[in-house]
Amino acid sequence: MVDLRSQYERLKADLDSAVAGVINSTAFIKGPDVRLFEEELQRYLGVRHVIACGNGTDALQIAMMALGLKPGDEVITTNFTFIATVEVIELLGLRLVLVDPDPDTFNISVSAIEKAITPRTKAIVPVHLFGQCADMEPINDLARRHGLHVIEDVAQATGAEYRFADGTVKKAGTMGIIGCTSFFPSKNLGCYGDGGALFTDNDELAAMIRSITNHGMRVRYYHDTIGVNSRLDTIQAAILRVKLRHLDEFNEARQKAAAWYDRELSGLTGITLPVRSPYSSHIFHQYTLRIADDRRNDLRECLENEGIPSMIYYPVPLHMQKAYAHLGYPADGFPVTTRLSGEVLSLPMHTELDDEQLEYITGCIRSKYNQ
Ligand SMILES: *Cc1c(COP(=O)(O)O)cnc(C)c1O
Repeated sequence: MVDLRSQYERLKADLDSAVAGVINSTAFIKGPDVRLFEEELQRYLGVRHVIACGNGTDALQIAMMALGLKPGDEVITTNFTFIATVEVIELLGLRLVLVDPDPDTFNISVSAIEKAITPRTKAIVPVHLFGQCADMEPINDLARRHGLHVIEDVAQATGAEYRFADGTVKKAGTMGIIGCTSFFPSKNLGCYGDGGALFTDNDELAAMIRSITNHGMRVRYYHDTIGVNSRLDTIQAAILRVKLRHLDEFNEARQKAAAWYDRELSGLTGITLPVRSPYSSHIFHQYTLRIADDRRNDLRECLENEGIPSMIYYPVPLHMQKAYAHLGYPADGFPVTTRLSGEVLSLPMHTELDDEQLEYITGCIRSKYNQ
């Protein structure tokens, strides 16, 4: 699905010297590269504060802690996402409210959010799934009208851009009160281990977030709030500084591969290509098809026989997961999520796909559908 090896080979000289530099300095924790990376990412995103942390899941948890969300507060998010988004809501004792996504973009449905708002709702967590922004303008409008926080889950969309009706363009993660991302190796901006970060324009929140990531401490050994230990290693920060310089080029390579898929797979009956929304760029963390008529397993098997990987993100709706049975949602409560989880299929997508590989993959799918 991803080819981290070829990308490493291409950037080897810079990456090796970045890692060696940290080892030579022995500043493994909170070394200078961490702050430099935060500043460089701030500039790239056009946001006042980037606070690095241990991983994307921690970033989401720390965001909810920093906003002072309390047990019983309701948090609305999409049923069609990676488990991390909802896990932290439950861990903090908040009340998880799931809603269906929009079937075209796979992103949280604005009308479903509106219906789910109650007097106890405190936050909305839109996830920019597969590399395309959720429809942030109406989400922010709703949030403003109801006095809610918007926490963006940017783990799959670092570098994606959203266009507001007045023409303003903003980077994913800089439109809500806090943006949370992951630098897991396979993400669009990935390191060589675990990593994550929070983004915000709010100075006070930034100070609170920084303190929470560091055991609730602003002055050493004085603990003002209950915190956690969540840091980005200096080695990972040094790697990310190198890779951030290539992020736009990485995302363009993904878009080029997606354009190839689009061109070669269009017009096949029973295959729906990814929909590009008018308000967001798509940086294709995943290239995800919808396969109708129960032909998905058949196609997967056929791809597998040709040595082509494919994945189902995500096969089981969250409300059907054993760990979340206590939420008490009825099995048929989320028709869009249920349909999508039965139809989606993601094809190999990364920065190193060449024409030969793309032709091989699309040729295999085309021959299957011409039978
Ligand atoms: C990867 C991912 C996360 C979690 O990131 P980690 O760094 O693995 O903790 C959260 N949300 C979404 C949508 C993700 O894809």
